[in-house]
Amino acid sequence: MSAQPTHFAFERPDSLAALIARLAQLSAAGHDYALAAGATDLMPQIKQGVKTPTLLISLNGVPELAGVQAGADGSHRLGALTRLADLASDARLRQHYPALCAAASRVASPPIRQRASLGGNVLVDNRCIYINQSPLNRATHGACFKAGGEVCPLVKSAVRGKLPQCQARFVSDTAPVLLMLDAVLHLVSPRGERRLPLTQFYRDDGMQRHVLARDEVLVAIELPPADDLRIDYDKLTIRRALDFPSLGIALGARTDSSGTLSELSLAMTGIGTHPGCWHFAAAVHNNANAMLDAACAAARESATTYQQDFFPRDYRKRMIDVFIHKAAQRLGVAQ
Ligand SMILES: Cc1cc2nc3c(=O)[nH]c(=O)nc-3n(C[C@H](O)[C@H](O)[C@H](O)COP(=O)(O)OP(=O)(O)OC[C@H]3O[C@@H](n4cnc5c(N)ncnc54)[C@H](O)[C@@H]3O)c2cc1C
Repeated sequence: MSAQPTHFAFERPDSLAALIARLAQLSAAGHDYALAAGATDLMPQIKQGVKTPTLLISLNGVPELAGVQAGADGSHRLGALTRLADLASDARLRQHYPALCAAASRVASPPIRQRASLGGNVLVDNRCIYINQSPLNRATHGACFKAGGEVCPLVKSAVRGKLPQCQARFVSDTAPVLLMLDAVLHLVSPRGERRLPLTQFYRDDGMQRHVLARDEVLVAIELPPADDLRIDYDKLTIRRALDFPSLGIALGARTDSSGTLSELSLAMTGIGTHPGCWHFAAAVHNNANAMLDAACAAARESATTYQQDFFPRDYRKRMIDVFIHKAAQRLGVAQ
């Protein structure tokens, strides 16, 4: 990476109230700021000149964003600043949400996971081989839409204003598992607070990626009890560590009180602009194999792959069925 000179002011509010008051002020003035948690996604983009904030606001001094709380009913509230390394090794969370801890442990590398936060992972920027590059590399094909330009080197027919305008792909490793767990986001802005199911959060575009307002902060991720749900998450990568998912598949099996499979769920990352999520009920599909067939068909149908990754696009698409079936075997639902 050829590093850009980076000049920005730095602030570190020490409470949620102070943070929100500052965001109200900055937004009213139209200030170009960025919020930073672990900054493991943000800082490389600043160094590459992809993002150019004049003010960086650290979230790390805001106590309301930290910590994990357990409810009496088995629900949990995970502060947005929960570090992925802490999440991956938390004995209580491993007991209640083992797949979430496993997915967190697959992000990047151990030093990055020490800094990287769960909130930052939910909000990690979409990636494309044409934008996540040095300025010199980007200059060879002109600024793409996501970089403020008027071309898409990936989809040459794309025009400004027609969604999805940008095919930068969704890469969060934890989001597919969180979707399956029916996670709810606790969001706070100068206009107040709201709770939004993660299923309603993401948008189908690599630029306008979600519905978080510019001055809104993700405070926590709330998880209901999930004791009747078993989830398997695995990702396609060239290396065991450091690589974003070229494809990530979370498969969930829900059983009823008699131990019979009542629902199969699937969520996908690494392919497409947002994480697909589907549910297949035993009441609709005859047996586990019929549910699996439906899951493979839904994921394949939704998966428009582009050559924006190390793997050939057709290979990534073919791996969808392979990953779903391997996950089903590990969960013991394949017949
Ligand atoms: C070499 C390398 C490999 C990587 N591999 C992976 C990988 O395999 N899988 C993967 O998923 N990610 C990967 N990442 C990306 C990143 O490390 C993780 O996604 C990480 O979890 C991001 O968390 P963070 O706290 O560092 O986010 P930050 O960089 O601090 O923030 C990310 C974005 O979210 C916003 N944000 C963060 N927290 C909040 C909040 N509470 N409220 C509002 N906005 C907020 C920031 O403004 C920014 O836009 C990799 C990064 C690197 C450098």
